[in-house]
Amino acid sequence: MFEVKNLEDTDLVANPVIAQMSKYDHEQLLFCNDNETGLKAIIAVHNTVLGPALGGTRMWMYSNELEALTDVLRLSRGMTYKNAISGLNLGGGKAVIIGDSRKIKSEALFRRFGKFVNSLGGKYITAEDVGISPLDMTWVSMETNHVVGLPGKSGDPSPVTAYGVYVGMKACAKEQFGSDDLSGKKVAVQGVGHVGEYLVSSLRKEGAEVFISDIHEPTLKRVADQYGATVVGLDEIYDLDMDIYAPCALGATVNDDTLGRLKCSIIAGAANNQLKQEDVHGKAVMDKGIIYAPDFALNAGGVINCYSEVKGFDSAWAMSKAEEIYQTIGNIVRRSSAEGIPAYKIANRMAEERIESIGKVKLPL
Ligand code: NAD
Repeated sequence: MFEVKNLEDTDLVANPVIAQMSKYDHEQLLFCNDNETGLKAIIAVHNTVLGPALGGTRMWMYSNELEALTDVLRLSRGMTYKNAISGLNLGGGKAVIIGDSRKIKSEALFRRFGKFVNSLGGKYITAEDVGISPLDMTWVSMETNHVVGLPGKSGDPSPVTAYGVYVGMKACAKEQFGSDDLSGKKVAVQGVGHVGEYLVSSLRKEGAEVFISDIHEPTLKRVADQYGATVVGLDEIYDLDMDIYAPCALGATVNDDTLGRLKCSIIAGAANNQLKQEDVHGKAVMDKGIIYAPDFALNAGGVINCYSEVKGFDSAWAMSKAEEIYQTIGNIVRRSSAEGIPAYKIANRMAEERIESIGKVKLPL
């Protein structure tokens, strides 16, 4: 499923859009243009076998259209896997609006975008992502009901995301150390923003020894003082004598440079795309005996929170659903070690298996 085909360059030149869609097995793309408001957007629906395609809208100053197209295709496909492995009845989608978020935003632009989202009839449900604020989404919601993450609804997803990361980290500890008790374990949290701070709080409550880094000095100092964490340098974090490395800031921090330095036995954090090159670094991590919790399965608390808004469930439901991340991560890492296959690959397979089996349930009797 969703096999990446090896396309000849000539295919892409002859038919760049359909060929790209076919490469990642996408269902539908909607190109949106409105000269009045300056809206230029692409909505990508990757897969709707499990349910409507849910994924945020990103506003970014892409340097060209191909870059925007590649991003929306990659991100929407990622949402299919995240939603599937989290046991949600949601497919994967994403939208990108091309432009400088400090310059082109207006009520009219977002309402026009809302009309495009609405034209898909609920096949795509949107939410906030990079460059988009709750106010922007309020404008979108004036034209469509297919939007979540509105002010006064499910709210900030970060506590749910952090809780999922925390329980998933415990599941890794159970496999690596024989117990999921994190007291006394040395955990390095890189980035103490929305998610990182909640994670530090849970870890300290359990008695873990926590090390933190952040580029924002005032936040770093406040979090260190408030929870009793030790501050370390931005680069020093990779050389620490630690049990668990929790990247909660940037992607691609597990790479050729850092892998030789990391002395941890578990990598479990909230950041997206932690492995610089999945195939290379996913295997290298396993070969070093490190348990890696695949990021898209571990940080699914945010989308679980969105799903609770779609279904009219409350925040208690979102937290209890996020607790299932303990089982999901446990299953992934056990299967990875039993089959000798990198954890990211197992997680992808598990997501694909769910889509395949539920797709059969949905066939007419
Ligand atoms: P955030 O912006 O609130 O926090 C990120 C923190 O990392 C900031 O405090 C920032 O100063 C710090 N930072 C940036 N560069 C750094 C560096 N080089 N070293 C150390 N710290 C650095 O973001 P967030 O909402 O806490 O999300 C954290 C990560 O988790 C992001 O990668 C995000 O995509 C991912 N994520 C978040 C959620 C969510 O619910 N918020 C859900 C899924 C995934």
